[in-house]
Amino acid sequence: MSGNHLFQQLRKKWRFVALALTAAAISFIVGALMPGNQQGSNNPATARVQVQNLNQFLTVNPSAKQVADDRTAFNVDRTVEKLLTVLESKEKLLTFVPPEQFQATTVFEGKVKNSEKVIALTVDDGPWPETTEQMLDIFQQNDVKATFFWIGKSIENSPEIARRVVARGHAIGNHTWHHWYDPMDAATAADEIDRTAKLIYETTGVKTTFFRPPGGVLNNGLAKYAKQQNYAVVMWSVTSADTDPRAQPSAFVNNVLKGAKPGAIVLMHDGGGDRSRTVKALPEMIAGLKKQGYRFVTIPELLEIQGQSAA
Ligand SMILES: [Zn+2]
Repeated sequence: MSGNHLFQQLRKKWRFVALALTAAAISFIVGALMPGNQQGSNNPATARVQVQNLNQFLTVNPSAKQVADDRTAFNVDRTVEKLLTVLESKEKLLTFVPPEQFQATTVFEGKVKNSEKVIALTVDDGPWPETTEQMLDIFQQNDVKATFFWIGKSIENSPEIARRVVARGHAIGNHTWHHWYDPMDAATAADEIDRTAKLIYETTGVKTTFFRPPGGVLNNGLAKYAKQQNYAVVMWSVTSADTDPRAQPSAFVNNVLKGAKPGAIVLMHDGGGDRSRTVKALPEMIAGLKKQGYRFVTIPELLEIQGQSAA
């Protein structure tokens, strides 16, 4: 539906509602002002007389009618415009599209000036019960925005958590439906990505053309399809290695702090298994990066920054 068409629809509806409200308000005011009619405003017959009187007044005073109409129309238009602005800015917030020069490309890190100390935390395989929300709280406490790459199956299991992630203002990417590594035919690859995109949209209203291939596998058909659809394929330059079952949280912290550099993309996980160690590592990781002077950006923001510094 085009914006214009929506505008017309809203205008019609709102004009009707506003006219009805205005008529009700006028008849109420007239009723209150009419002498000897204190109880009359609840009486339909009296109300009808009041409206008749008002109509008569407006008929013999056409300029008063014009003013009333104009004011109603003006207020309706302003209301509709405000509403549309809200809808448009909401849609903007919920749409994640890479800058054109990154569409259909694979990104491993942001190429930014050394003085531009930005870093992007990415969180894969959720949304996931408990761990995602614990991470959301830590991000909020530290004023950090991250990028979450979601699995379709995970969203199906935790739609409410998905909505919370979006409500907190994080960026979203597609991480396929099943998280398969093995080569697949074109139809399966398309289904893995499209089905997930559809559920992301239906659950949260988010449209995203950022894609992360499961396991970072770039040659099994998924990345190829994503590029055909103008996704940016987003890899990473630093891994927390938080999928290592034997490592301590302090090791995740060290991995990230050692690998950090301006424009780095950091990999960690909130789902796909028990990620309580990642949750444990996260506050220290963020504190360490802040101490090194980094500020945290989402993947769309990082590419925006790179695009600007190249221009
Ligand atoms: Zn994954």
